[in-house]
Formats: sequence, structure tokens, C-alpha cells
Amino acid sequence: MKKVLLLGSTGSIGTQALEVVAASAQLQVVGLAAGAGWELAVEQAREHGVPTIALADDRAAERARESWSGRVLSGEDGVTELIATSGADLVLNGIVGAAGLASTVVALTEGIDVALANKESLVVGGELVMALSEATGARLLPVDSEHSALHQLVGREAPGTVEKLVLTASGGPFRGREDLSGVSVEDALAHPTWRMGGRITIDSATLMNKGFEAIEAHHLFAVSYERIDVVVHPQSLVHSLIHLNDGSSLAHLGYPDMRVPISYALHFPERADVDVPQLDLAAAGELTFEAPDPATFACLRLALEAGETGGTAPCVLNAADEVAVAAFLDGRIPFTGIAAVIERVLEEMPAQPVTHFEDLFATDIEARQRSEDQVRGLTPA
Ligand code: NDP
Repeated sequence: MKKVLLLGSTGSIGTQALEVVAASAQLQVVGLAAGAGWELAVEQAREHGVPTIALADDRAAERARESWSGRVLSGEDGVTELIATSGADLVLNGIVGAAGLASTVVALTEGIDVALANKESLVVGGELVMALSEATGARLLPVDSEHSALHQLVGREAPGTVEKLVLTASGGPFRGREDLSGVSVEDALAHPTWRMGGRITIDSATLMNKGFEAIEAHHLFAVSYERIDVVVHPQSLVHSLIHLNDGSSLAHLGYPDMRVPISYALHFPERADVDVPQLDLAAAGELTFEAPDPATFACLRLALEAGETGGTAPCVLNAADEVAVAAFLDGRIPFTGIAAVIERVLEEMPAQPVTHFEDLFATDIEARQRSEDQVRGLTPA
């Protein structure tokens, strides 16, 4: 029985991961962590017989203690303590944002494998995180559907045979549009193929998410950016593909359902049944592909440039994006303001080399402050 600790259990990835664990005879959940959603976390703990939960928000942890007799840890330290003491064989990191980096670092340092949904761990700290994984021998198993696909495709090939990785993108709700001014929050949250948390849904609409995924792929598979392509594929049935040295191209297909890559990461190296329909290509009818439009979707360009630049640039990119997306969701800036804020903060903070995680935490704080200043400049009086 594999013991699994779920971080971000109250979110989109976390709730789907609980479904996968509940349906599996090979997995047991030994702990749950979330931010502030204490009611759902307690309900999940009761339903799944979980002895310990951690809530990053202290007040939420207090409320959970008042309503449940199980062990409740609180604050960021509580999440860290849960990872270190849970006895888990595998940590699923479904925390959103740079807040998830510390948990990835703690798990890898403890020698615990990480099923990684929190792409920000690699966007912000890719080089250091990969080095840590190598040093401790703890593995990173991608949960992002594109990277799960690539893991399955690349893993079977001999070194030197994979020439290119191709990430597919649905294109989001604004595919094909050239003018994104006047886009509403409601429109941006209406993703055509995936059901996800608010931040990643907006990142999918700006295509920032695909830029993040290119950075994630660069680190996970040790591939340079010129060997990573992005292609828009609105049906979201091909999750990624690779081009090989003999002219073959291999693709990974399936309906867009995150329980599939979650199950793959949690059961790896085994496979387990997932209650999803088999792909019916005749019913799907057609699979279409087109080039992305980095002129309209400036966030994709900014992310690829920051990835190429390296150092602190991807950390600044992510922090500015977190602040700008939150401001857009609050109605403080327009949709096109997201790229504008990020571009200005990247200009203000030229990339520095990164040698310690502390460099990243300091950069993250400064980038957030500068982004807030930029947001204030764009907010209508
Ligand atoms: P959600 O917003 O739905 O959930 C985020 C989770 O993180 C919640 O459980 C939240 O708790 C928790 N959380 C926030 N801050 C902290 C913290 N400091 N400590 C512990 N827990 C915290 O996001 P998603 O599930 O959509 O995404 C999670 C991650 O997975 C993101 O990095 C995303 O990019 C990635 N991902 C998501 C996919 C998807 O289909 N949703 C697909 C591929 C990757 P609470 O709400 O209780 O405060």
C-alpha cells in the first residue's frame, strides 16, 4: 500500500486526487493540507479516515480544531511538519502558486517522491529543484497532462533519439481573436475543455500557462527551448507529442480528464483502472492544429523569453503573473493589463543568477511589491 499525502486537497487537483485514491486499492491517504478551506478539509478527513490535516491559514486551523477531534497543524510550518512527519511514500503537490515551492523542497529534501501539479515549483525554482531531486534521489512525477504525456513518451526512448517536444494548447476561450481589450472575467473563466482553479484558468486564457509549461518541460526533460514547440489543438485530445531522429512522431491521446494523469503519477510505475470512457476518434471527428499567436497572446512570448533568460527572470514572471491575475479577477485591471504588468516588472528587475532558494524567496517578494505598484497605476480611479 502506497501512503500518499495530498497538498492542496481542497482545490481542483486535490479533490480529483482524492477521487483517484478512494477508487484505488493500492493507495492510502495519510494526510491532507490546504490553505484556508477548513470546512472542506475537515469533511475530506472525516470521509477518508485521514488522521492529520494542515491548514496554512492559522485562523482556519483554529476553526478546524474546534469542529474536529483529529490532529490539525497550522501555518506554513504546519504544512512543512506534516510533510516531514506523515510517513508518506509520495506527496501530491496540488498547491497553487509559488506558495507550493517550499513544500516541493521539503518533500524532496526528506527523500519523498513528489507527484507535481504545482508547476510553479519548476517555473520559479527549476534548476535548484531538479538538482535537489538528483541529490536526494526523490523523483518528480509530473501531473500536468502535457508533461505526464511526455513522461510516458520520452521515458521509452534511448538518449539522443528525441529531437523535439511538442506541447499542445487548447488555445483557451479567446483562440483566434486579435483584440483582447474588453474581455470580461466571466468570459476569461469559461475555459472550453478543462475545469480548473481560477488562476490556471486565466493563465490558460492568456496562454501564460503554456509558457509556464514550456519552462516546466525544459527542466523536467533537460531539453533546450529551441527543442520545445507549442501547437494549438482546440479539441485537447492530443496531450503532447515528440519527434524522433528517424522521422517518427509519437503522440499521447485521451479525453481531457485530470484523473488520468493524476492516477498515472500516483500509481507510477504501475497503471490502475480509471473510470473514464475510451477515446472514440470517429465520434471526435477531427483533430485540428494551428500555430499560436504570440503577438496577441503576449504572455506566451514573455514566458518563453523569461525561460530563455533564466536566473531570477521566471521567478519574477510568476510573481507578477500571480499579482496581475488576482487584480484582473478583482476587476482592478483589464485582461490586457495582465501582460502589461508582467512586462514592466520584468523590465524593472533584470535577471540575476540564482544560487540558493533564499534568492528566489527575496525576488518573489520584491516582484510582488513592484507588481502591486504597476496594478495601482492601471486601476481606474
Ligand atoms: P485551486 O485553486 O483549485 O486549488 C489550490 C489549492 O491550493 C487549494 O486546495 C488551496 O487551499 C491550496 N493552497 C493555497 N495556498 C496554500 C498554502 N500556502 N498551503 C497549502 N495549500 C494551499 O488550483 P488547481 O487545483 O487548479 O491547481 C493547483 C496546481 O496544479 C496549480 O499549480 C496549477 O497550475 C496546477 N495544475 C492544475 C490543473 C487543473 O486541472 N486544475 C492541471 C495541471 C496543473 P484553499 O482553497 O483551501 O485555501
